Amino acid sequence: MEQIDIKSQNLSELKKTMEQLGEKAFRAKQLYQWMHQKLADEFQDMTNLSVALREKLEKHCVLTSLKALEVQTSKLDGTQKYLFALADGNVVESVLMKYKHGNSVCISSQVGCKMGCRFCASTIGGWTRNLTAAEMLDQVYQIQKHSGERVSNVVVMGTGEPLDNYENLLRFLHMLSDENGLHISQRNITVSTCGIVPRIYDLAEENLQITLAISLHASNQEKRAELMPIANAYSITQVLEACKYYFEKTGRRITFEYSLVGGKNDSQEDAKELAELIQGLCCHVNLIPVNPIKERDFVQSGKKVIEKFQNKLEKYQINVTIRREMGRDIDGACGQLRKSYIDHKQSKEDKREDS
Ligand code: SAH
Repeated sequence: MEQIDIKSQNLSELKKTMEQLGEKAFRAKQLYQWMHQKLADEFQDMTNLSVALREKLEKHCVLTSLKALEVQTSKLDGTQKYLFALADGNVVESVLMKYKHGNSVCISSQVGCKMGCRFCASTIGGWTRNLTAAEMLDQVYQIQKHSGERVSNVVVMGTGEPLDNYENLLRFLHMLSDENGLHISQRNITVSTCGIVPRIYDLAEENLQITLAISLHASNQEKRAELMPIANAYSITQVLEACKYYFEKTGRRITFEYSLVGGKNDSQEDAKELAELIQGLCCHVNLIPVNPIKERDFVQSGKKVIEKFQNKLEKYQINVTIRREMGRDIDGACGQLRKSYIDHKQSKEDKREDS
């Protein structure tokens, strides 16, 4: 019999599981709190459950727990990058960023990614599988335990396309904000998408207070399609219509992420076109100086160019911030720590085959 992934179950599902195991439903709440509040890694640690129940859980259920393989700490700003091993040997990375307003964790939603954005390291090796809700939650849990400080903000901006793992993402969002878990306010959770339009409409109906971030990265369809293959499936116009709908439904301001790529999308004309494109929408633009990756020849825009871009948007009354680069001295862009780990492992295996 396949073991039950109980850490991905919400409280009402867990009650049913307890009944199936011949236990009283109220035990579910204790178990849920052990997993999602006290962040226990072993059934054996759950000391107010009977030994018999712990043994039963051990036999029928799996308790997802990620193992940190590597933690890199930035000497510049204390940012920490974590490389976690999953039970099947795959690895994912997550980041802890410390701000004045609290600790923010950036999590991955998939092993690899199939979206193919040109400037992104996470997509180079393709997509392997979706993460379960428990695997997404446990990135936050392990980091909170390791750092010994409460995580107050979570951004789903690591490897993977969260809206391509929709069911598990929703489960994750509800459980992360559940009062029997870490109880992180939905207003402090951001989900970033490359623009899977039908799922944006679905998400609008979910009655959530999360922030939706859209990776826009260009001011027209043609340029966007050059950087992001997903634009061939859903046009920039369709993405913006979906954003408008999302705002009308949820009242939540949309964030647009715009990675500035030197000479590609950072001119004054680009800024003007972007301003005209999003004008009237309740939104905020986050400018990200592109993080160059060695597999591509994209370069960062100069500081002056970035500031001029910002000023131009402000002239059109657009809310805009430049994303502070965190952890510059550790494996920079999304997916690079995982990628360097896999490349290293692969080259070791190749050497073994050669010899
Ligand atoms: N798939 C989701 C979330 C993961 S990427 C999405 O596309 O939004 C998180 C953000 O980082 C996205 O805006 C992505 O386009 C951006 N990004 C990825 N690689 C980058 C790089 N090398 N430099 C700057 N931004 C990058």
